[in-house]
Amino acid sequence: MIKKPSQAVIDIKPSGIRKFFDLASSMKGVISLGVGEPDFDTPWHVTEAGVDSLANGQTHYTANRGLLRLRQEISKFHDEHYGTKYDPDKEIIVTVGGSEAVDLCCRTLLEPGDEVIVLDPNYVAYEPAILLQHAKPVFIELKEETEFKLLPEDLEKAITDKTKAIILNYPSNPTGGVMTREDYEKLVPIIKKSGIYVISDEIYAELTFDGEFASLAQFDEVKDQVIVINGFSKAFAMTGWRLGYTLSSREISSLMLKIHQFVIMSAPTPAQHAAIEALKNGYPDVLEMKKSYEQRRNLLVSRLNKMGLKTNMPHGTFYVFANIKPSRLSSDDFCTQLLEQEKVAIVPGTAFGVHGEGFVRISYATSLDNIKKACEKIEHFLETLDNQRKEELEAEVLEVMEEIISI
Ligand code: PMP
Repeated sequence: MIKKPSQAVIDIKPSGIRKFFDLASSMKGVISLGVGEPDFDTPWHVTEAGVDSLANGQTHYTANRGLLRLRQEISKFHDEHYGTKYDPDKEIIVTVGGSEAVDLCCRTLLEPGDEVIVLDPNYVAYEPAILLQHAKPVFIELKEETEFKLLPEDLEKAITDKTKAIILNYPSNPTGGVMTREDYEKLVPIIKKSGIYVISDEIYAELTFDGEFASLAQFDEVKDQVIVINGFSKAFAMTGWRLGYTLSSREISSLMLKIHQFVIMSAPTPAQHAAIEALKNGYPDVLEMKKSYEQRRNLLVSRLNKMGLKTNMPHGTFYVFANIKPSRLSSDDFCTQLLEQEKVAIVPGTAFGVHGEGFVRISYATSLDNIKKACEKIEHFLETLDNQRKEELEAEVLEVMEEIISI
């Protein structure tokens, strides 16, 4: 008899986003506000740098950490934009997307039985990465009233002797929530005292609206406990190039490199050349795309609120986390019925954790025209729900009246 593969892998649940998209892709004429990637193509001069690198025969492995020139550009970018300093030789690893970086952090830090604090709702890749190390995710519920921020009192309560790390992702997928410098200031003493690691997924850092991006890595007291994950997918519209990176202390970086060098060798070479161009000359493109996202966000939030779906103004990413509780449908039913009746695809909040119930994630990484059309359809869907409810209510009243009359 053939032996059973890893139980930890067998136990991993399929992504709630995928499940929904398989359903959507089987239908024709669907407007999708579900995707988690920019609708923009990679700026042409960046693509061209990748193409040129191939034409010039740069088709070999690079150093395990990635091209030194790229690491120098990454170091410069973080210094100039966020005031954080990382040594290109010892503290940076270029990875295959932020996705590899998440896995790398978990493999490097975790041992069986360790607890890892995860925020709920959260990005879907964290829990499986923790479970694969036979560690235990411990969830902190985030609330709409406090803009889905991590509060110091909740963090303090969640830390035990077994806690090894916390995974943060601000600006947040799926909520669009952002933490300010003042918010982080309150967490610093708790993190310092506990000695836990912070895996800080900052992939949406450049898509921070209304204020400046802040990071725990900006606090010297805890900088060595923080592993920053970032990448080119979101801000530079480079999802398909598969390029990200980690910034951390030397010690952690050298441990992560042990895994990366055997599992990956080096991130794709043409993508690394394209990324150098992105960091050197692509910032105006980032700002241009950001302006577009902001315009779309404003339209979407205002339309949703007008139709009665109370929605916080998200301060980052390209997602809105809309409260659908007035519809009295579960998140899953809301999204399934909206897809079936109006052919609009969005993602149930529960795909991101149990506390996502009552919410849906709507992506505005799509054209203004699509957003307008989708909003009309969502509004129509809510009206039909209202009419149904009125009819149900009238039927109930009629029943009670008949009973009264018959007494
Ligand atoms: N972190 C978050 C929060 C994300 O939303 C994503 C992409 N959806 C990733 C990491 C991974 O991105 P990539 O591997 O393309 O860099």
